[in-house]
Amino acid sequence: MEDKVYFKQFDIEFVKLPLGQHELTLEVDKRFFEKHTNDEISDAEVKVRLQVEKKEHLMRFRFLLRGTVTLKCDLCLEALLFPLETEEDFIVKMTPKEEEAPEDEHCIHLPEKAFSFNVEQLVYELIYAAIPMRKVHEDYPGQQCNASMLSLLEAHQQKKNTECDPRWEALKNIKL
Ligand SMILES: [Zn+2]
Repeated sequence: MEDKVYFKQFDIEFVKLPLGQHELTLEVDKRFFEKHTNDEISDAEVKVRLQVEKKEHLMRFRFLLRGTVTLKCDLCLEALLFPLETEEDFIVKMTPKEEEAPEDEHCIHLPEKAFSFNVEQLVYELIYAAIPMRKVHEDYPGQQCNASMLSLLEAHQQKKNTECDPRWEALKNIKL
């Protein structure tokens, strides 16, 4: 079940904010990734500082993310704690319906009458984009591959290689 109270924090009700600078804090944890399930991230402890600059017809949203996400090691397949640090700026504009909104990934267009902006998907994408291609325990201080898991996987791989060895396949086809 989705924790509605928890996910409410991602609904930024900017209409309630007076013009000027504001800072909000959002917490991304396991509940977030139980909803946004994916193959890469199983858990997280990420603090999102969201700086909102509200002007008359425009807002600037700055996301500063810092924390840890739990990934899977490429080598031993065990949990790896990745230190995440990323930031991104967006301009949020109120666009009248009839106006064609130009394409720009850092510019978000909301309907003129909008009073809130849900940043859940945006936060998910920012975290996902910050994940490295290579995920190996040894790259991070204080983390090590699970040695017994490694040798198990190695043994499995060798067995697989023997099974698929083309020389054995060729031998099978020789009629004696
Ligand atoms: Zn590992």
